[in-house]
Amino acid sequence: MADRLADGVWLLDLDRVPVFGANAFLVDDGEVTLVDAGLPRAGLGDELAAAGYAPADVDRVLLTHYDLDHVGGLGDLALDAPAYAGARDAALATGAYDPPWLHHKGAFHRLARRLWSLPADLELRSVDDGQRVGAFTVYHTPGHNPGHVAYVHDGLDVGLLGDLVWEVDGDLTPPEWWDSYDVARLHESIRTFAGAAPSLSVLCPGHGDPIVGGGSARLTDLATRLA
Ligand SMILES: [Zn+2]
Repeated sequence: MADRLADGVWLLDLDRVPVFGANAFLVDDGEVTLVDAGLPRAGLGDELAAAGYAPADVDRVLLTHYDLDHVGGLGDLALDAPAYAGARDAALATGAYDPPWLHHKGAFHRLARRLWSLPADLELRSVDDGQRVGAFTVYHTPGHNPGHVAYVHDGLDVGLLGDLVWEVDGDLTPPEWWDSYDVARLHESIRTFAGAAPSLSVLCPGHGDPIVGGGSARLTDLATRLA
């Protein structure tokens, strides 16, 4: 069930089958931002309602990356809001970029695009490193996907991390190699983000439980282990 993590920050609990489901989050700072959308038919509408929101309340969607477990729920709701994604993943989603068939995840993305499409009327906007969207700052964090991004809400000290990191049994960890484009690049992104992001209290990973309190120290600890 939807879980209030901090003032204006909600976990929408769609990760009911660990690894195959993903978390979504909602941030309400006066504007209502949905961060990721979970798998298709994972219950996004019910989780929004449990947090006290209707689809029409959502002002924007921030996507951390183009994987079905993070964007699939967009087809479940009639959202009248633009969606944002890192430039490389926006191109992956629209077909402007074709990943290599011979790469394990490239082949997966090519197949996934044939089986499932973003809603035809979705307004998808590309974002780049350092760009601001409302009160969020975009951090390009490639590795899991080429256009993976994390978002930091400056006023609420919360990091929306997608699959930059997972939480497993209380620990932060990088995602598995089989689910990532480039593991070395992913580890570099974790180290770079840990060094560049402002002080964060709440960390919202794409899979596993959020870290509530002391987020930056946990990220620094992981970055040190990967060094
Ligand atoms: Zn994921």
